Amino acid sequence: MAKVRETVLQLDLKALAHNYHYLRAKLRPGTKFLCVVKAFAYGSDTQIIAQELEKLGADYFAVAYTNEGVALRDAGITKPILVLHPQEVSFDTIIERCLEPSIYAKHILDGFIKTAKKHGQKDYPAHLKFNTGLNRLGFQYEDITHIATVMKKATAIKALSVFSHLAASEDHSEREFTANQISRFHTITEELDKLLSYRPFRHLLNTSGIMNYPEAQYDMVRSGIALYGYGNETKFDKQLKPVANLKTIISQIHHLKPNETVGYNRGFSSEHPKVTATLPLGHADGIGRHYGNGKTFVSVHGKKAPIIGNVCMDMIMIDVTGIDCVEGDEVLIFGKELSAQEFAETGNTISYELLTGISQRVKRMVI
Ligand code: PLP
Repeated sequence: MAKVRETVLQLDLKALAHNYHYLRAKLRPGTKFLCVVKAFAYGSDTQIIAQELEKLGADYFAVAYTNEGVALRDAGITKPILVLHPQEVSFDTIIERCLEPSIYAKHILDGFIKTAKKHGQKDYPAHLKFNTGLNRLGFQYEDITHIATVMKKATAIKALSVFSHLAASEDHSEREFTANQISRFHTITEELDKLLSYRPFRHLLNTSGIMNYPEAQYDMVRSGIALYGYGNETKFDKQLKPVANLKTIISQIHHLKPNETVGYNRGFSSEHPKVTATLPLGHADGIGRHYGNGKTFVSVHGKKAPIIGNVCMDMIMIDVTGIDCVEGDEVLIFGKELSAQEFAETGNTISYELLTGISQRVKRMVI
């Protein structure tokens, strides 16, 4: 593999294919696979990842916002794209770019019907989202009759699917809560089918749902994080391969005398002589200040080196005392040999936040 010469996020498409096939193999025949590619495909690269997933056989894509769906269409994606959290201002664009909205509230339902009518649409596909316990986005069980009445009258749109989202599918101490969510979803979909006199397809599971609740696959599953190599549990992490590898090089090495300090506000000091290396990435690249706590490690020639002092906007400093390295040497921030999940935990966060936070300033490179 070519040596890196600047900060890059290497994207391993073989790892992506591995993860895709691993998840696919868990699905019952006929279950559709929706790939979640919001937030620049979890911080990697929307275009590269979505094009590869489409080639691999993804049935559906999901993004959070309409502009992300537009980016997918601009990248040539032809599969259906579910927009999970559209705002009314973007309804014209949704229709113009053949995107499919999540309808999660009455004002969204009314607004989208109006826009679809204006565009002369008939049976435009829409996805009804229900809240079953996450209490974030979605209709309530009590809204069913109202929705069914409105949907039956509206000819401009049609409920293509009904879905909900689990709150704690990775948490084994919450199995009872999740079972209740599944049961509520079941009741909602059954009752709605009767009222509508047809059966929209159903989907509920995210990554951890796929891993832990195979009985609730319904007609489609929606996976994000596992596609990128993380399974929210060590046993699943071991089966998956990280797609994103954040690498950089050593810009400069400093030899510190005892009690010299490092960085802004003299954030690090040691009574002992130290060798430090300065790296060209910082909080503007997505490595936040919370990683400058001495507990977060990067890898220099396979050896762990802690981030020391305050993380700067464009630089971090690491302690390379005792590590044989020179300026220009490669440093792995996270990736194949150093999991983003473990890295994130040292900053009290999760892989999702770390990955999606890698800023657009960092060059993306397919390997
Ligand atoms: N479905 C919905 C509605 C989501 O918001 C998300 C992600 O946040 C997902 C599916 C994918 O979740 P995960 O990345 O845990 O697979």
